[in-house]
Amino acid sequence: MTGLSDSFQRPIDYLRISVTDRCNLRCIYCMPSEGVNLLEHEDILSYEEIYHVAQVAAELGISKIRITGGEPLARLGLSSLIKMLASIDLITDISLTTNGLLLGRYAAELKQAGLRRVNVSLDTLKPDKFKFITRQSDKLDDVLESIEVAKAVGLNPVKINVVAMAGINDDELFDFAAKTINDGWHVRFIELMLPVGVSTTTAQFISVTDIRKKLEQLGDLEPCVHGIGNGPAKYFRFPEANGTVGFITPVSEHFCYLCNRMRLTSDGKLRPCLLADDEIDLKQSLRNGASSERLKLLIEEAVAKKPLHHNLAEGYMPKDKPFSQVGG
Ligand code: SAM
Ligand code: SF4
Repeated sequence: MTGLSDSFQRPIDYLRISVTDRCNLRCIYCMPSEGVNLLEHEDILSYEEIYHVAQVAAELGISKIRITGGEPLARLGLSSLIKMLASIDLITDISLTTNGLLLGRYAAELKQAGLRRVNVSLDTLKPDKFKFITRQSDKLDDVLESIEVAKAVGLNPVKINVVAMAGINDDELFDFAAKTINDGWHVRFIELMLPVGVSTTTAQFISVTDIRKKLEQLGDLEPCVHGIGNGPAKYFRFPEANGTVGFITPVSEHFCYLCNRMRLTSDGKLRPCLLADDEIDLKQSLRNGASSERLKLLIEEAVAKKPLHHNLAEGYMPKDKPFSQVGG
């Protein structure tokens, strides 16, 4: 097999890069409301360092990159990083996951820099609930506006990620489904993962099976033969809907056997798995002037450490870093 593959023969061609641990929101399932220990600026990788890692990773077989965070658009000059990454010939797809607050402002320049598509995280269509879930912002309208701007500048498909939570937003499942029918939205429901120390409980977990049962009260969900992404989501469509409904089941049915990704944390560690603590330090080597060959060996070492699957179902969550640092 050519390119990069792990010890279980899974091809690895996708790198998720967290560009910051900072965020302008404090979503209840992701970050504590206060007391977040933030990294110093010098501890996060510079854009030049990220570019160097991406270039070497591309030579090994990485062809797709997703930029995430924290909130990636909270870091200044993100378009310049996108432009640098887009200049790497072997990288064929660059996407972004964002909370959407600042996307409207930057969408056009991001597109021009080479970004292809975006995922916007949005868990409610109600302003008061938006403030409750994000703990910070009453700017739901800015996110809704950003979604339209992103579509208009061609960052398509714009996918909307909804973390489903019983008793919090499960009364809005039909409203999101209606958006796929009336407005062509691509909505993906994600099962809540329960990291220790964040303000959600097992009582708020709702499985994709239950979400699907509820949605089917609206009409048949027809499987999309050709998915709209290359990730773990399974896609469906209501009859005559332009948009799609996707389901992501990190908890009830893990998709590790399909996992093709590695993660670069904002502080320069390469993580084989979102839900395990193992990581390989690239920052130190970069700053000690490591050659590209040395970096390649480190990347291959990290890939070789990819576990067969995570152990979320047994209650195991990584201890040392929150999602906002790893890039969920
Ligand atoms: N700030 C950006 C955003 O919210 O899209 C990017 C980073 S955020 C950590 C990436 C994704 O992780 C978001 O879609 C968010 O909903 C998801 N996420 C964070 N914590 C989660 C949890 N406990 N369970 C499920 N998804 C979670
Ligand atoms: Fe910030 Fe995204 Fe985490 Fe919400 S999910 S707190 S927007 S990093």
